[in-house]
Formats: sequence, structure tokens, C-alpha cells
Amino acid sequence: MPDLRQGCAIRAVSFDAAGTLFVPHPGVGAVYAEVAARHGIVRDACELESRFRPAFAAAQRRWRVPYGADDSDALTFWAEVISGTFGEPLPYETVCDLYDAFASATRWRLVPGAHAAVDLARAHGLPTAVVSNFDCRLEPLLAGIGLGPFDAVVASTAVGRAKPDPAVLIEACRRLGVVPADVLHLGDSEREDGVMCVAAGARWLRVDPLVGIPLEELSAILAVA
Ligand SMILES: [Mg+2]
Repeated sequence: MPDLRQGCAIRAVSFDAAGTLFVPHPGVGAVYAEVAARHGIVRDACELESRFRPAFAAAQRRWRVPYGADDSDALTFWAEVISGTFGEPLPYETVCDLYDAFASATRWRLVPGAHAAVDLARAHGLPTAVVSNFDCRLEPLLAGIGLGPFDAVVASTAVGRAKPDPAVLIEACRRLGVVPADVLHLGDSEREDGVMCVAAGARWLRVDPLVGIPLEELSAILAVA
């Protein structure tokens, strides 16, 4: 792994959202089971949880722009994931409720260190951004969960490309007035965040959501930046 403390000065810090700042709570399967039950569809939460990942991966492979090329396509993408998870297409209203559930802060919990990491970047006088494979639910979710303010929030549906395509980061840089080489990006996914950073020339700090944001490492990086 390259030494993140070396190289050009860091002039901005960006964060992935899901898996980095917050994770589903108590889990996708549990939320899907609870919401579907309100529509008379009774399923086991653990079974849904185990079916979610393969369904998600299958939809990602099939979609031209995973997570949706725009906000309308995002709902269609997630309807596909939901169909795969439940093993059958669900009524439109049920799909919408399942999709909307994850716009609510109550369906997520913060990764340890999330607030502190954002505060740390701001304390260094650095602009902050969220760079996420997400959609129109992202900004209200960030407000609801009490994170920020951020200087830029860019969801993949706003640019029609998804990470690892660097377009999402490049758009955040445009809004912040920096270039990707100025950016330290925190993210949990090597395939999405890591590859994007290599493509864009940004620096990547990996986050393990089970452990929390590596605040000591972040602090050390920013101290010499
Ligand atoms: Mg992530």
C-alpha cells in the first residue's frame, strides 16, 4: 500500500456514504422483512439478508450504470435487486416503500468515527464532500442522520456514472475547486473507491465499517498534509 502521507498536499477530503459513514440498521434483510410484512408479504429476515448480496451483484452485472443512470433508473435498479432478493417481482407500492425505507436515517447507523472524521477534516480547514453510488435519497439521508454539513454531495445518479468511474469524484472536485490529486477519499470498497482513486489520481484511505474509520491514520495524514 502506498504511503498516503507522501505526495502532494491534501486540499479536500471526500467520503463514500454506505459502508463508510453508515451501514444499514439492523440490516437489509430485517428492514425488507419488516416493510414487506406491512404489505402482507411475510418473509424471514435472515433468508432475505442472505439473498440480498447475490441479487445485488446480479443486478450490478446487468445494469449499464449500476445504482441507476438517473433517479428514475435508480428505482428500477433497486426494484430488480428487490425482486431477486424476494425471488419474485413485488407490487409497485411495496417496492417503493422498500426503496423509500433507506431514505430514512432510522434504517442506518453511523460507522464509529464518522462524525469525528468529518469534524477532523473541517478542523484542518479542508472542504469535505460525499462521493457516493447513491441517488436522490442521499442528501435527505445525510441531513436526517446528522452528518455534515458537506461542501459538496454528489450521488452517482447526478452524473450518470457510478464508481469506480471517476466521474463522481471529478464532479465533486469541480464543485470544491480542487483536482483529484488534491483529494483524500475515504471508502470501504476496493472495487469502487479504491479503483476510482487509482483512475482519478486521488489518494484512498480504506475504511472497514466493522472496525470504524481509522481516525489515528486520518489524523496523521492530515497533520502532515
Ligand atoms: Mg461503500
